[in-house]
Amino acid sequence: MARILIIEDEEHLARGLQFNLEAEGHEVDIEESGRGGAERLERDARAWDLVILDLMLPGMSGFEVARRARAAGNLTPILILTAMDATRDLVRGLEEGADDYLTKPFELDELLARVRGLLRRRRWDGADAAADAEPRSEIRIGDATVRFDRFEIETQAGTVSLTTREAGLLRALLARDGDAVTRGELLEEVWGLRPDTRTRVVDNFVVRLRRYLEPNPSRPKHIVSVRGHGYRLVR
Ligand code: CA
Repeated sequence: MARILIIEDEEHLARGLQFNLEAEGHEVDIEESGRGGAERLERDARAWDLVILDLMLPGMSGFEVARRARAAGNLTPILILTAMDATRDLVRGLEEGADDYLTKPFELDELLARVRGLLRRRRWDGADAAADAEPRSEIRIGDATVRFDRFEIETQAGTVSLTTREAGLLRALLARDGDAVTRGELLEEVWGLRPDTRTRVVDNFVVRLRRYLEPNPSRPKHIVSVRGHGYRLVR
């Protein structure tokens, strides 16, 4: 069971999502305005386990809501809803701090899969383990241990949970076995975007992974930039 906040002004869509998520056992709140949503996220960083955020909202856009939540230190996973073919929007949403996206119209199964993916970021508990467990797999990167079965990285500083895309990016880097990979390849493989999409999404997510993995994130020695090319991972 998770607590989910839906920020969406289309009432029938919001109610439909609420109905289906409640049927999955979640507790769901709806906020119709961007401003109201931003205020709730600023007021309480821990009230929800997941935010489903429409980008097209009257008054204050979903971009602004995401930016204000992150600026206030609210790190709740955010799933953005965008119109079909609005690649620029979803890229901007990811740059403002959203974790994943879904383009409208979407299938219910697809939504529920994304929700499950983002909720893995929460503290692991046994109830969810059976449904989503992968074969146990541990990989050492420097002093950190990555546990893909739990979507966690264990470091001396503690345990961090990974979202689906963060884990996907790490997997894509590991799969190269130390060889460099371009931003375009990563965009396509991890985010399903065209390789020529102009965006800083890959770089932003690399910053996050470095914060988790690197003893000194400003002088990375594991996720290394390859000038004019992309990144490579040194274990
Ligand atoms: Ca809308």
